[in-house]
Amino acid sequence: MNFTYLGTAAAEGWPAVFCNCPSCKRAEKIGLAAYWAGTKEAREIRTRSQSLVGEDLLIDLPPDTYLHKLRENLDLTKVKYLLITHKHMDHFYPQELTIRGSGYSHDMVNEDLHIYCAQETMDYFYLVSGWELDKASDRHLHWHVLSAFQPVQAGPYWITPLPASHMKEGNEPFLYHIEKEEDGRNLSILYLHDSGYYKDEVWDYFEKTAKDKGPVTMVSFDSTSGDKETDHGGHMGFSEVFRVKDRMEKLGIIGKETICCMNHFSHNGHYSYDEMAALASPHGCLVSYDGMKLAL
Ligand SMILES: [Zn+2]
Ligand SMILES: [Zn+2]
Ligand SMILES: [Zn+2]
Repeated sequence: MNFTYLGTAAAEGWPAVFCNCPSCKRAEKIGLAAYWAGTKEAREIRTRSQSLVGEDLLIDLPPDTYLHKLRENLDLTKVKYLLITHKHMDHFYPQELTIRGSGYSHDMVNEDLHIYCAQETMDYFYLVSGWELDKASDRHLHWHVLSAFQPVQAGPYWITPLPASHMKEGNEPFLYHIEKEEDGRNLSILYLHDSGYYKDEVWDYFEKTAKDKGPVTMVSFDSTSGDKETDHGGHMGFSEVFRVKDRMEKLGIIGKETICCMNHFSHNGHYSYDEMAALASPHGCLVSYDGMKLAL
């Protein structure tokens, strides 16, 4: 099974939509042609956060979904399951779903889409998009409201939402533990976006999961703050990711074979791709870029 990073930036993109800082200028100079061709130097250009598990499970629906479809030549009608981490705009652009179905979509592989998210994310969708959504399209959107630590089955996947350290009190941002049996193996992904240092009950979950099932196949770490220790927006910088990874190794949720990848970067984090890769490598971490594919 492939895991594909479609977009790897924080909310404003990199270069950011409205910014002329040196980090954005460095990325901007590379140009769209190189980004489209997927050259190594174009790893400085990052679009808003989205990932694809296999061909049928999409994580998040940012404003750059359309660009991802074009760049990766995706048939998004193959997606059966959509997981939404939280309702920040770089993870959920709800209006996009109003053009899925009825007269907007033909010859779809799957008419039905199962959406997994917090209650507030679903409420937000109908608040801002309900007036534009026709009934025929709405009938094919199947919402599954999640509660922290309550696993749900999505076709061949088991999804366990975990509470993220992100957003204000009362919001419901989720980290996800995604599992799938494939060829006798338990493929297991911890998708830890967006979040600052994890809550005690999340650490307890990691400990219990490690005891019951052993190490996971892959972890994706929030690395938004780059060269900063952390910030107050519920994210992590590089040094915090390395500390978190050490603790996860001690618990056994990360093992020798676990693929660890840093992801979700802000221009305010400053590091270039090569600088990030040089820092991450001694800690056994990869650095994501738009279009990166990992074979699990
Ligand atoms: Zn984000
Ligand atoms: Zn900038
Ligand atoms: Zn966020």
